[in-house]
Amino acid sequence: MTKCNVKTGDVVVVITGKDAGKQGKVLAVNTKSNRIAVEGVNMISKHQKARKAQEKSQIVKKEGTIDVSNVMIVCPTCGKPTRVKHAVVDGKSVRVCKCGATLEAAKAEKKAVKKAAAKSAEAKAEKAKAAPAEKTEAAEKKTKVVKSVKATTTSAKSTKTTTARKAQRGV
Ligand SMILES: [Zn+2]
Repeated sequence: MTKCNVKTGDVVVVITGKDAGKQGKVLAVNTKSNRIAVEGVNMISKHQKARKAQEKSQIVKKEGTIDVSNVMIVCPTCGKPTRVKHAVVDGKSVRVCKCGATLEAAKAEKKAVKKAAAKSAEAKAEKAKAAPAEKTEAAEKKTKVVKSVKATTTSAKSTKTTTARKAQRGV
């Protein structure tokens, strides 16, 4: 079994078939059947039946799969379609263009972007955590104020009753 050199997210150019010459991002790779889905390539009309009450039956245009041998990877560095060489860099097997540039560079950037997004999400979550804590403190203060108000009203009542009793006694 030959190993599939194309990965999701790669930009490939179609070299044969009705979509020959088209370029697009790889959306999905099936390593078992060696077929891939490429953005805007081999568009098919899927007659999609509604499965739930709120869904509509409709004809959906989507990418059909093509054989992986019908495409060549476009190098993100030199912009040319290339066959894939393999090399080991820093103990990792990487795919290399005929120009010598690694084809994994784009993926590393993606990871960095993902990491940054995750970090910002974490920061947001921390902020969200901090905000409700402040709110609860404020709420506690409010309840305390309410309690003290109640206490004053009760004390006022008690003073009234004592004065009333005093009046009954004729003091
Ligand atoms: Zn290249």
